[in-house]
Amino acid sequence: MLRFDDRVAIITGAGHGLGRSHALLLAERGAKVVVNDLGGALDGSGASAGPAAEVAGLITKNGGQAVASTDDISTPEGARAVVQAAVDAFGRVDIVVNNAGILRDRSLGKMTVEDFDSVLAVHVRGSYLVSQAAYPLMKAAGYGRVVNTTSPAGLFGNFGQANYSTAKMGLVGLTKTIAIEGARNGIRANAIAPIAWTRMTESLLPAEFEAKFTPERVSALVAYLVHESCEVSGEVFSVGAGRVARVFVAEGPGWKTDDLTPEAIADNWQSVMAEQPYVQSATDSLKAML
Ligand code: NAD
Repeated sequence: MLRFDDRVAIITGAGHGLGRSHALLLAERGAKVVVNDLGGALDGSGASAGPAAEVAGLITKNGGQAVASTDDISTPEGARAVVQAAVDAFGRVDIVVNNAGILRDRSLGKMTVEDFDSVLAVHVRGSYLVSQAAYPLMKAAGYGRVVNTTSPAGLFGNFGQANYSTAKMGLVGLTKTIAIEGARNGIRANAIAPIAWTRMTESLLPAEFEAKFTPERVSALVAYLVHESCEVSGEVFSVGAGRVARVFVAEGPGWKTDDLTPEAIADNWQSVMAEQPYVQSATDSLKAML
């Protein structure tokens, strides 16, 4: 059994849905957990201390260790306060699960700058800020596990979610860079693209999905990725209803000429679009160009 005794985990947005399930699972397996949740509505409006306190209380009642944090992780002060809560209560940070999220769906033509910025602020800036605040502690310890929460909507696009999909693909870049920068200090970072029945999806998914797409079926992957035995880093995984699959950004072999013209590109379009073999890193991409 993979256990987390003596490990300290920060889970953002853990008052509901997926974060709640991650917090309960890690705590059940011995982790000391900071249950962070601002307690607002799905669109990010409002705040309440209730959800974080409820989950932290449930963990404690079950014999685990947890503290509640109602800090807004989209602000630098809030992100620092979450990490400080972990240090004050448990003395260290081993695991960060950036899970907090909001939705402000609207088609591109109708989206306001406020809709766009507020969604990026919670998902992207929040994940960056909490990871950055925890980073020096993990670096000093020579150990850390980060999981960011992306989405199929970000990896593949989705109608009405220009803000959300931009944010979620941004998290892939953040994940890959934390993985690269953290490698020599034992810090591993991965992203999950989940589907689960939560307040975020209950009005979108068919009712019969509720029993299959449980948050617990996502948390199992999070627990695996944040365990000390897991050295995987820089990867993205699709997860839902009991299925786990690697998702990867790929670049094909491409087509090259010293005399590149728009017409030459049109004439060689099939080679441009070819998929195998593929390039998997920015360095390999540069090499292929040279
Ligand atoms: P949810 O609404 O149940 O949970 C999100 C939680 O984040 C809420 O409890 C909310 O209060 C909290 N939160 C929002 N803004 C915050 C802030 N500024 N500071 C602290 N907490 C804040 O939704 P969920 O489905 O459990 O979503 C969890 C994550 O998974 C999100 O990042 C979401 O985008 C992602 N996701 C979910 C699905 C799905 O199918 N449910 C699919 C793809 C991605």
